Order: sequence, then C-alpha cells, then structure tokens
Amino acid sequence: MLELPEAVVIAEQIKSELRGKKIVSVDANRSPHKFAWFHGDPDGYPDLLNGREIETAASYGGLVEVTAGQVRIVFGDGVNIRYLPAKAQPPAKHQLLLRFDDSSSLVGSVQMYGGLWAFLEGEFNNPYYSVAREKPSPLGYQFDYGYFEALLAGEKASSLSAKAFLATEQRIPGLGNGILQDILWTARIHPRQKIGSLSGAELESLFKSVKSVTAEMAACGGRDTEKDLYGCPGGYSTILSKKTVGGHCPACGKTIKKEAYMGGSVYYCTGCQRV
Ligand SMILES: [Zn+2]
Repeated sequence: MLELPEAVVIAEQIKSELRGKKIVSVDANRSPHKFAWFHGDPDGYPDLLNGREIETAASYGGLVEVTAGQVRIVFGDGVNIRYLPAKAQPPAKHQLLLRFDDSSSLVGSVQMYGGLWAFLEGEFNNPYYSVAREKPSPLGYQFDYGYFEALLAGEKASSLSAKAFLATEQRIPGLGNGILQDILWTARIHPRQKIGSLSGAELESLFKSVKSVTAEMAACGGRDTEKDLYGCPGGYSTILSKKTVGGHCPACGKTIKKEAYMGGSVYYCTGCQRV
C-alpha cells in the first residue's frame, strides 16, 4: 500500500516521465472491482480525459494527483500506478488505462481498494482528499513540534495507543500501518503503548522519528516493500516489515515479532520496544 514516501516518489516520476504527453485513449473500469472508486460514471472518463496533456503531478499524503489542463486525476493509496513504455503489455486487470500520443501509457490497478478519480478542478468534494490536501506533511516545515503538540492535545489523543494516534483518522495523512513500523522502532516505542503514558522526551523522540524516517524513506525512493512507477522496489531497507520478521533487530539483536493489532499487523522489536 502506497504511503506518503512512495506517493512523493511516484508524483516526481510522473512529473519527469509524463509531462507533455497527450492522452489519446482512455479505458476506465475494464476489470470491475467492488472497491474501485471513480468520480461519477467511469464511462464518462474518455470524454473528460481524451486530448488532455499531462502537465504536472503532486502528492498529498498517500494520494497522487496528476494535472492535465483543467482536469485532475487522483490515485488513492491502494492503487498500483505503473508507467508502460510503448509496446509494453498492460496488466491483465486494471481499472484505468491512459494511452498517450507516443504509445506509452499509465495504468492504475486496484489491489484491495482504491480510488481512481478524474474530475474537473474544483468538482471533487471528497473529505479524504480535502484533509490530505489541507494538513501539513511531515516533510514540510509547517509540521513542527508545535503542530505535533496540537495533535497530541486533540480529543482523546492521550488514551490512544501509539499506532492509533499516528496511523488512524487521517491525523497525519499518508502515515499508515506501513511506515508506522519503522517510525515507532526508531523512537523505541511499542505500537500498543498509550500516548498518555509517554514522557516529554519520548514524545519529542516520536516527533523526530515521524519527520526523519518519512524523509529518509522518500529520499531513498520509497520502501523496499513497495514499488515505484516503473515497478521497481524502493531503496529504503525496512527495519520492521514482512521482509525482516523473525530476524534480529539491528540495534539490540533481539527478535523482530509480528502480531495482529487494530485491523492490521504490527511489527516490533522485543528488546527495544516494550510496553
Ligand atoms: Zn531491538
């Protein structure tokens, strides 16, 4: 699942790869998927998109937004977004395929769920999108300790676990159950630990980890558990993930464990992260 670092990387790749390409054919909802979401009727996408030229791309949290004239195409965080050079075969199943005037294409396919929203600028009233656009990114200067403290002072924040605080309610858009793991490990905080039980120093360490781990992941091209626009894994080696579970913690040598918690798996070091 794409999260903030991968969305940053893919938006940059789209900007440099697709700028100036004109959309010449559109195939929307080719493989109907119960949890693929569109803006309005996907049958209207060809009329909306054909003839538009890709200008730029940006990321908001885990969302990737492509600008083509007056139109915006937003890919949600559960969508695989791939660039296909001319003559490359698209995947068997996809929910949005844009072909360009040089025969290359961009394809979006939904894994478990995800949005492929195309709309005229200003016509998309989706709260998830609005929140992702409005809130400061951990990569930006506005996300400072004062801002983090305001999040900590939010309703019920102190009774939440570290996982619930960081990775739910779009408190920090694009910070999900994936990048959460290394952020908590870096701060040496267990996912189940209650926010209200953390000391001032621990909270500061948590804030610093949110900033530094996110920035490092983005700088390295995303996590090695996710793929970029070209289908290549990112260059950030995850410390806690499906790739490292059962192995040894690089800091203390104890075992990395996985357990189910709050509708997803959490990973933690049995030495460094104690409740
Ligand atoms: Zn450890």
